[in-house]
Amino acid sequence: METILFLTHTETDGSLSKAAREALAAAITLSRELPGASLSAGVVAADDAQAAADSIVGCGATRFLVVTGDDFATARYATDAAAAEALVQAAGATLVVAAGTSRWARCLAGVAQRLHGRVDTHATAVAVEAGAPAVTRWYYRQRIEGVSQRAQRPWFILMEPGSAEPWQGAPAPAALERVPVALDERLRRTAFSGWRAPRTDQQTIRPEADLLFVAGAGWTKKQADGQTHLADAERLILGFLHLAQASLGGSKSLVDLSGEGQAVLPFMTHLNQVGQTGSTPRHPKGLATCCHGEEPHVVGWRFINERRAINLDPNCGWASGKADVLYVADAFAVVEQLNRLLASKRPSEAP
Ligand SMILES: Cc1cc2nc3c(=O)[nH]c(=O)nc-3n(C[C@H](O)[C@H](O)[C@H](O)COP(=O)(O)OP(=O)(O)OC[C@H]3O[C@@H](n4cnc5c(N)ncnc54)[C@H](O)[C@@H]3O)c2cc1C
Repeated sequence: METILFLTHTETDGSLSKAAREALAAAITLSRELPGASLSAGVVAADDAQAAADSIVGCGATRFLVVTGDDFATARYATDAAAAEALVQAAGATLVVAAGTSRWARCLAGVAQRLHGRVDTHATAVAVEAGAPAVTRWYYRQRIEGVSQRAQRPWFILMEPGSAEPWQGAPAPAALERVPVALDERLRRTAFSGWRAPRTDQQTIRPEADLLFVAGAGWTKKQADGQTHLADAERLILGFLHLAQASLGGSKSLVDLSGEGQAVLPFMTHLNQVGQTGSTPRHPKGLATCCHGEEPHVVGWRFINERRAINLDPNCGWASGKADVLYVADAFAVVEQLNRLLASKRPSEAP
């Protein structure tokens, strides 16, 4: 019989993220479908973890184990690993389900090793097959979907954020069990010194956005008048992102240009690249602009449900069934008009 631990850390405000509640939904699925399984929650928090535990009290967990203290305010391999190890042992967990956040991704493979377990990352679904847990994930740049089962325990499963509906339930007081973690100065050698992040108006990657806006190299190419229009491209793209709160993706050709330090769309980096050698983001909708839609790019759209593209070329890659709608049009003109329409809905926010 499996003992399932939903393992989570809190956010800076003490709450649980959407990704954490998605992982909780997966843990609940396993606990309901595995015969005789039990579910516990393990929370790592800087505060007393009460609010976080209260928010998931209706999930069916029988125990709410918490590791708390200032040492857990920010991500740090040594202390996060110690906290996770203590919680897994306190729960006697055979299955550990956690969100694939950067914080957990960094340390849970090490914890699995310490506990002589196994770990699977980037899981997109869990199920029960032949009475045993099964984990689905994608391989070979999202081209092959595989389902695996393992005999080794504890088995750590990191759920890919954006793969499931987040669990929701009414909060109520939870009875907490505090789990002690022995920390010494050796584990505190790495100290958090501060954040270094782009200005928020330059933050173009928004995983929670409803829309992925992809910019291709066409934005930097000579247009009908024989000239490039980089300043217009920058104004239109940033204006659209701001007004639509969309996330920005790019084709390889475009981000490579930026990487060479040329005066082209300086806000594009390789982090924006979508595709075979880039990312595979998950957004309900996507709009490709000035992007040809070649296979190595479109393979990164695997999880975009509704796809539209704007291209001057009626024979571009999107036309061959890769987009639901292809607008054969000048993206400069279309996005200009789109921004005007969006701004008219929010008059104080003209691009
Ligand atoms: C091993 C390998 C891995 C790769 N991995 C990736 C990857 O991860 N991601 C990726 O993106 N690519 C990848 N590529 C490259 C990929 O094959 C393409 O070369 C690249 O995606 C092309 O980028 P693009 O469509 O922006 O540029 P282009 O092919 O130059 O297309 C520009 C498009 O803009 C259109 N256009 C121009 N002006 C306008 C306008 N005013 N309005 C509307 N449309 C306009 C043109 O019609 C054209 O279709 C990979 C290639 C290889 C070999």
